[in-house]
Amino acid sequence: MEMVTIHGDEWKKEDVEEPIAWAKTKKWSKTQWYSDSENWDHDHCQICWWKLYKSEQPEHAIGYHNSENDNWLCTECFEQFVEIET
Ligand SMILES: [Zn+2]
Repeated sequence: MEMVTIHGDEWKKEDVEEPIAWAKTKKWSKTQWYSDSENWDHDHCQICWWKLYKSEQPEHAIGYHNSENDNWLCTECFEQFVEIET
């Protein structure tokens, strides 16, 4: 079985294939995590559910945002799975 490592944890590749395929069809821009609502204090990576929020730690504070759906990916998932190799 093929495994992938995300934030030090092993995942079955088949469990993340679907969100990865979806993410590849979207446009992402790297940005500091933010929210338009004061009551909304975090988001989760759509692939691995890593928490993104206002933080001193860049791995939590910086992610990739898709403004069309207001979705987020963590840097590690984006750079490992989504970034298109050209
Ligand atoms: Zn992730």
